[in-house]
Amino acid sequence: MAGRSVREAVLERDGHKCQICGREGTKRNPLTMHHIIYRCQGGRSTLDNLVTWCTECHREFHRTHPVSSKKKKRKKGRRKCGRG
Ligand SMILES: [Zn+2]
Repeated sequence: MAGRSVREAVLERDGHKCQICGREGTKRNPLTMHHIIYRCQGGRSTLDNLVTWCTECHREFHRTHPVSSKKKKRKKGRRKCGRG
């Protein structure tokens, strides 16, 4: 890694725009990194596994795609999923 973060590389690839709504980040709605494969499911913070979304789209996605299933209750001590 030569001084450039993965985040920078992802933003550059995606043109500094949300890949869902196409908006550029603002103070109220900054751009975030979404993990395509959740970190808790083995996803890495790599260019391939990250996509640029704005905060609003990100929130909406996680609201409509809850990670934890209601059927199974996980054992205690597992990291919470779905914040990225
Ligand atoms: Zn968006």
